Amino acid sequence: MSVSIVWLRNDLRVSDNPALVEALRTGQPVLPVFILDDETVGRRPLGSASRWWLHYSLHSLDESLRKLGSRLTLRRGPAGRVLSDLVTECAATSVFWNRAYDEGSRHRDAHLKKSLAERGLRAESFKASLLFEPWEVKNQSGDPFKVFTPFWRACRALPPPDEPLPAPKSLPVPKTWPATDLLADWRLLPTTPDWAGGLRAAWTPGEAGALARLSRFLDIALDAYRDARDLPAVEGTSRLSPHLAFGEISPRQVWRAATNRGASAAVDKFLSEMGWREFAYSLLFHNGNLAERNFRPEFDTFPWADPGETVVAWQKGLTGYPIVDAGMRELWATGWMHNRVRMIAASFLTKDLLIDWRAGERWFWDTLVDADPANNATGWQWVAGCGADAAPYFRVFNPVLQGAKFDPKGEYVRRWVPELADLPDAVVHSPWTAPKPLPASVYPGRVVEHGAARDRALAAFQTVKKSA
Ligand code: FAD
Repeated sequence: MSVSIVWLRNDLRVSDNPALVEALRTGQPVLPVFILDDETVGRRPLGSASRWWLHYSLHSLDESLRKLGSRLTLRRGPAGRVLSDLVTECAATSVFWNRAYDEGSRHRDAHLKKSLAERGLRAESFKASLLFEPWEVKNQSGDPFKVFTPFWRACRALPPPDEPLPAPKSLPVPKTWPATDLLADWRLLPTTPDWAGGLRAAWTPGEAGALARLSRFLDIALDAYRDARDLPAVEGTSRLSPHLAFGEISPRQVWRAATNRGASAAVDKFLSEMGWREFAYSLLFHNGNLAERNFRPEFDTFPWADPGETVVAWQKGLTGYPIVDAGMRELWATGWMHNRVRMIAASFLTKDLLIDWRAGERWFWDTLVDADPANNATGWQWVAGCGADAAPYFRVFNPVLQGAKFDPKGEYVRRWVPELADLPDAVVHSPWTAPKPLPASVYPGRVVEHGAARDRALAAFQTVKKSA
C-alpha cells in the first residue's frame, strides 16, 4: 500500500497542522519525516542555540506521534534529494508540507513540488506558520507594505484566521517503517563544553511546553501586557518566541486563545506584536536575503567601524553599560533576551560602537533559541536604521536613561550582572558615577563614552542623509 509523506519542518506539532491533516485525509498510511538540511544552497544552517532546541523539540514530537500510534523518521542531507529518494523507497503517492518563506527554502520547495508532480505525485503545501500569507496583504496599488501600521490595519480588515485544526486522534502507519537516523547521532547538543545548563533551566521545548507557556501567559501576564511588556525584570511577555520559531504552536492557536479572553486593549496590543512577526515575514518574502542586504540601499556605503575587540566586549556583556551587559549575559545564559533590551543592546552595537548590524544579527542567530530568519533581520535593520519603518537615524538609545526608565530599581541588572548587586539604585545604571567606583577587575569601565559615541554616530548617519 502506498503512503503519504508529511514533511515536517518548522511546524513541529501535531495540533493545528494542515499538512498532517491533509495526509490523514488521503486515507493512506502516513509517514512523518524530518530532514536536517544544512546543505541546500541558499538556506542558512541553524545556530548553536537553535540546534539545542531542535534536539528536544524533535524528541518531543516523536513522543507525541508515538501517542498517536506513529513515529518520526529522521533523515539528513539536502532535503530535495533526500525526500525524492524516500518517495521511491516507500512508494509514496503524495507529499505534504507547511510553507517556509525564506528565499532558499522557497526555491528548494518550488523545485521539489514541480519534480514530484512530474513523477505523478500529489505535492501540496499549506499555510501554517503565519496568520496571513504575504501575498494576501497588499496596499491599494497592489504593492507590499513598507510601514507596519497600515500593514497591520490591512491585516485586521481581512477575515480573521480560521479556527485551529484539532490534533488527529490516531495516525495510520506504513506496513514497514523506513530506516531512520538516531537523533543522538546528529549531535545537536553541545558536549565539550556543555554550555546549555541555563537553557535547560529556562525552557521546555516541544508542543506541550508551548501550550503550557501560552496558558501561563494568558493567566498571569496578558491583562498587564501593555505596560509590563517593556519591563525586563518582570515576566510581562509570553516568551512564546522559540515555540513559534519552531512551530510547536501556531500563530492561529495563539490568536484564538488570546481573543477568546475577550476584547481588550491588552489583547489588541499583544496581537499587534504578533503582527510584527507577520510584517517581518512579509518583508522577508518580498525582499529575499534580509539578513545580508540593507532594506534601504543608501546604507550600502555606510561607514561602519572596524569591530576590533569592542565586539567581543559586547558579546560577553563587558561593555561597562549595565543594561547592555545584563541583556547580553541573559542571552548567553538562557538563549533569550527581553525585547526592550534587544533594542538597547542592538542600538549600542550599531550606534555607540558603530559596528555593522550584520555582526550583531549573526551573533543573535547563533545564540538565540528563537533565532528567526524574518524577525531577527527585521529587528536588527529596524534598530540600525536601514530597515523598513526603521527607527530614525537620530534615535540613539541612551543606555543609562533606558535602564533607569525600564529597570528603575535595577532588579534586572542585578540579576544578570551580580557584581553590581550592592550599588545603590541611583547609580546602578551608571556605576562610574558611584562615590566609590568598582575596580576594573570587578566590573569594566565603559568601552566608549555615550555622549561622544552618539556624536560620532550622528556624523556617520549624515553621510546616509546626504546620499539619500
Ligand atoms: P511577546 O511580547 O509575548 O510577543 C508575542 C510574539 O509576537 C513573539 O513571540 C514574537 O513571535 C512576536 N513578536 C513580538 N515582538 C516582535 C517584534 N518586534 N518583531 C517580530 N515579532 C515580534 N524575535 C524572534 O522571534 N526571533 C528573533 O530572532 C528576534 N530577533 C530580534 C532582534 C532584535 C535586534 C530585536 C530588536 C528584536 C528581535 N525579535 C526577534 C523580536 C522580539 O524581541 C521577540 O520576538 C520577543 O522579545 C520575544 O519575546 P516574547 O515571545 O515574550 O514576545
